[in-house]
Amino acid sequence: MYTEKVIAEFTNPQNVGEIADADGVGEVGSPACGDIMRIYLKIEGDRIADVRFRTFGCGAAIASSSMATRMILGMSLAEAWAVSNADVVEALGGLPPAKVHCSVLARDAIRAAINDCRTRRGLEPWEVRSSGCSRGAGCDSHPENG
Ligand SMILES: [Zn+2]
Repeated sequence: MYTEKVIAEFTNPQNVGEIADADGVGEVGSPACGDIMRIYLKIEGDRIADVRFRTFGCGAAIASSSMATRMILGMSLAEAWAVSNADVVEALGGLPPAKVHCSVLARDAIRAAINDCRTRRGLEPWEVRSSGCSRGAGCDSHPENG
């Protein structure tokens, strides 16, 4: 059911934890699996200098959080914003269709954290379109996202 990359990421997740003086925090939840994901960002200049996550959820959600945080570390905020859930799924070597929404959660948590950073700096939050999993159990795939 899961690829070896998903299993490796789940059994040895990277960037787990919290950042006490984070510049942005994003939290999202998925009604479908009951996953809750919180992403902490530390920004230096316009770069993500550190990123940590706390995910209470299924294996796919934890694997997605770990992979997504590894991908955005060192990116600019705009680059991290552009990371799609399809990028995360691809990096994981694929997810079962019923678990794709867990990768959407990772993207949404990152975007929420980025917008938290922007809001704290007095900037307009970036617009969130097709916000993934708000429809709950019906949203097993998001081909429109990207
Ligand atoms: Zn899940």
